[in-house]
Amino acid sequence: MHSPNSRSACDRFLLVTQNVDDLHERAGSKRVLHMHGDLMKLRCMNHPDHEFMFKGEETLETKCPFCGAGTRPDIVFFEEVPLYMEMIQDALRECDEFVYIGTSSVVYPAAGFKNFAKRFGAKVTCLNLEIPAHDPDTDVFVQGKATEIVPKWCEEFK
Ligand SMILES: [Zn+2]
Repeated sequence: MHSPNSRSACDRFLLVTQNVDDLHERAGSKRVLHMHGDLMKLRCMNHPDHEFMFKGEETLETKCPFCGAGTRPDIVFFEEVPLYMEMIQDALRECDEFVYIGTSSVVYPAAGFKNFAKRFGAKVTCLNLEIPAHDPDTDVFVQGKATEIVPKWCEEFK
């Protein structure tokens, strides 16, 4: 999602992922939101905003470094609401272009982001190996391997 207004396009870029690993960060991506959580972190049982990097084995003795409460994995479990939804919805309302990449686009709520962004005026682009189910809100479809078509799209984006 981006908007090339007064700030640079990179300042306005936001990457929302359902991945819980750190591959985006290891690849150098900035402004990443892990809507299903982050395997590298734990979260406080009492204060959801108390999250922290953690290496090792979480046990019942593992405590929140901010308040001393118990902890849990920073992972969204079945039937829990994904993280950062308000921030994501704000970005969807404001973006000029919404791009979804390498997804079957069937897992909600993420599968509905393209429709939400389109309703607020965004151009919707899909970069994917397989042609997704017909979606009238997708304006542009580019078929191919992500390793090939995403760098090309990024060059055109600059
Ligand atoms: Zn805490």
